[in-house]
Amino acid sequence: MSNGEYPYGQPLASAQRNTALLPGGEPVIMLTSNNYLGLSVDADVVAAAQRTVQDYGLSTCGARLHNGTTVLHREFEQQLAQWLGFEDCVLFSSGFLANVAPLSALGGPGVVFITDQLDHQSITDGCQQSGADLRIFPHNDMLKLEYILRRTQDHACRLIVVDGVYSMDGDLAPLHEIDELCRRYDALLMVDDAHGIGVFGDTGRGSCEHFGIQPDILMGTLSKSFGSSGGFITASQEVCDYIRHAAHGYIFNASPPPVLIGGALAALDAIRTRPELRRRLWANTIAFRQGLLDERFAIESGSSPIVPIPVGDDALAMQMTHDLRARGVFLSVAAFPAVPQGASRFRATVTALLEESDIERAITVISATAREKGIL
Ligand code: PMP
Repeated sequence: MSNGEYPYGQPLASAQRNTALLPGGEPVIMLTSNNYLGLSVDADVVAAAQRTVQDYGLSTCGARLHNGTTVLHREFEQQLAQWLGFEDCVLFSSGFLANVAPLSALGGPGVVFITDQLDHQSITDGCQQSGADLRIFPHNDMLKLEYILRRTQDHACRLIVVDGVYSMDGDLAPLHEIDELCRRYDALLMVDDAHGIGVFGDTGRGSCEHFGIQPDILMGTLSKSFGSSGGFITASQEVCDYIRHAAHGYIFNASPPPVLIGGALAALDAIRTRPELRRRLWANTIAFRQGLLDERFAIESGSSPIVPIPVGDDALAMQMTHDLRARGVFLSVAAFPAVPQGASRFRATVTALLEESDIERAITVISATAREKGIL
């Protein structure tokens, strides 16, 4: 592959709204951002972040247990716990860490983690670091999950860990069935709802609200709907207290910068009080999906704002990424090992920021490029 075709790590030279600027000033329509509700550039959220940086400076320069806890950190944890219906919440400096740190602390002798094959890498890393037993079931295969539950009844603690919304394919875990299995086999459930909170559920509480279930531990990130950066888990007081004193990624890590938490507090307020943002996200998602289906793209019929557009061959997908950017559409390619070999795809993500004209233009460019390359 020549350097010109390497598609990863493309620098951007502006904020990411419906469009962003490449370093030469060329605008590209953003179809690769998890900023689902547009809150990273929302006027209220940015103003709150600006006030926070004035008041608190850039960083706490310390870990939570020492000088790294501000009143904003505690306020945000309490608001999240209350909103999501849990006793307490623990913030981490990334979503990645919000899986790795608690899972590596919770595992140990007698514990078995049971995970979906397509769970996020941070779940797998956390389970592996814990040294606990790990059993993996094929994606969304409830029969296999039940089989594992039947075969692990001798373990003192079984924790099923799944994504609420799968980050590469955008499909949902059947949480109502998983919850039912947990009750039947006396297992605990943790849901990583990085892509669900703010997007799914009548009031934006995520895929658990969508399915009407309450897991034992709910993990979320601030880098998607909240438009900020950081991560959290919400759970019982006992679990949160344990994690605060056992999770290395909490104890030995500088706390998330106050500016990000100040912004996230305003973002939480927007998620709760401005349902029109979610309505716009869903209207854009339906329009984008329908446009691709009208052009006969073989996209899955699922409904999430994550829309995988299959390409297949890795080199072709990378060349197409380059061509699309040159034509004003920013898409990112997911290739092996993030997806199975030969199953390269564009992982398009829709946001509330897109205008109708952006969606129409993007579909015209994507289909013309796909036809030229013979994949449509
Ligand atoms: N879980 C899932 C399902 C994700 O998709 C991601 C981010 N890609 C993370 C966790 C990690 O979150 P962050 O990027 O905010 O660290």
